[in-house]
Amino acid sequence: MILATHFIVGASVASLTASPELLVFTPLVSHFVLDSLPHWEYIDSLADLKKNKITVTLDLLIGPLLIFAFTYSNAIPNTKIAWILFGGLMGVLPDGIVFIEYFLFPKSIFLKKFESFHRFFHSEKKLKIGVGLPLQVLIIFLAILIIIVAKTVEMR
Ligand SMILES: [Zn+2]
Repeated sequence: MILATHFIVGASVASLTASPELLVFTPLVSHFVLDSLPHWEYIDSLADLKKNKITVTLDLLIGPLLIFAFTYSNAIPNTKIAWILFGGLMGVLPDGIVFIEYFLFPKSIFLKKFESFHRFFHSEKKLKIGVGLPLQVLIIFLAILIIIVAKTVEMR
């Protein structure tokens, strides 16, 4: 999955809960559920990551920017926007941990274990960009729709 999809779906599930435990847990679960579906992606190794630095940067920025634009323009209170953005961060965190392993601690046993755990959930089936990208755009659209509809959920 692209990072923006993970961020926005994480943000979306976070918008449905007022529980701090679920705020951390459900976006993490959403990451592994999304990865377990057949999907298109452009990063599968350190080499891909190095080759696609600009795309990765844009991919990282799209999620927070879209979430901020849609929550702010829908008069969602700032505390809830922060809550939702945190959910997005948790949604993308598993890939972030793998990137940290690749770039900073390639010898870390703990991070290697985490990478295998992450790979375990990852679908073996890859979709072509022509199918996979529109599908992720659709997922992003639905996830944003959920945030806007769920804005009436009170923060407790
Ligand atoms: Zn992942």
